[in-house]
Amino acid sequence: MSNELRVNLLGKTLPQLQELCAAEGFPRFTAKQLCDWLYKKRAESIDAMTNLSLAQRARLNEIAYIGREAPVRCQVSRDGTKKYLFHVLAGHFIEAVYIPEEDRATLCVSCQVGCKMGCHFCVTGQQGFHGNLSAGDILNQLFSIPEYEELTNVVFMGMGEPMDNLDAILAATKAMTADWGLGWSPKRITVSTVGIVPGLKRFLDESQCHLAVSLHNAVPQERLQMMPVQKAFPLNEVLALLRHYDWSGQRRLSFEYTMFRGLNDDQQHAQKLVDALKGLDCRVNLIRFHESPEAPYKTSMPTAIKAFQDYLNRHGVICTLRASRGQDIDAACGLLAGRGEA
Ligand code: SF4
Repeated sequence: MSNELRVNLLGKTLPQLQELCAAEGFPRFTAKQLCDWLYKKRAESIDAMTNLSLAQRARLNEIAYIGREAPVRCQVSRDGTKKYLFHVLAGHFIEAVYIPEEDRATLCVSCQVGCKMGCHFCVTGQQGFHGNLSAGDILNQLFSIPEYEELTNVVFMGMGEPMDNLDAILAATKAMTADWGLGWSPKRITVSTVGIVPGLKRFLDESQCHLAVSLHNAVPQERLQMMPVQKAFPLNEVLALLRHYDWSGQRRLSFEYTMFRGLNDDQQHAQKLVDALKGLDCRVNLIRFHESPEAPYKTSMPTAIKAFQDYLNRHGVICTLRASRGQDIDAACGLLAGRGEA
């Protein structure tokens, strides 16, 4: 039977597997066994699940599969960053970026094919939207790279807007953090958003993972010129929501701020940003913009970035400059295109 007619077990939560087992007349504990095989042993086939009876395995093979698929291409940067291309949905591709550092190894995963948000500076955004990834498609990006065992962190900052595919994000992060899943601490996972308020509220209520908000400009009319989402969900509404939550504990709040020459990188903008974030326990990550022929923006001068960073730090906002990684293979922020050719 083709995969379209069967259920992908990868990405299913324990309650979902219990439901499936009940429907099939399997004992309840079979769901826990399935979780062990899927998440602890990372089985690639139902036949590998040797503590299930032959009849159970035969039935599962009829109705389900494990959506494990190796990447179709890997590009390696001079700095060791690796960009993996995965085939998803019919005829589409997405990318995940593996970023090794001295004391950690991070995987930046995608959650959609393309994106609906249309941020003007982002290559993914210029491609339009072609579909949501399932929780299984998301987990496959971790499980099917050779460096899985080395991973210390996962960030949802690749292609797509996580709050626009929240059911899959919540199921995938649940499988990563639950006892029946990988058992990771939620501190190892960061989910980013441009600030879709209803999704964000649900995420904050249901997940303990870190949050990164793409801010990029604290002047409303200017942010709107760069990020159409500002019209439906203005930054002040996003910040008002964030102020209802406690950020002094384990869960961390950060704001991503890409530096564009002459657009958002002077002291006035730094001051607006400090004002906007007043009273919020958070940090700001500055990102050098990576120029691409598809976006009409320029990278800020290093002196402007330094002055901006110093201003924020002097005014009580912890601010760091994110290291640029994988620029030579178009793996840097905003450059993921999921091009399947070549
Ligand atoms: Fe979508 Fe993020 Fe690109 Fe904006 S920056 S278009 S939200 S992928």
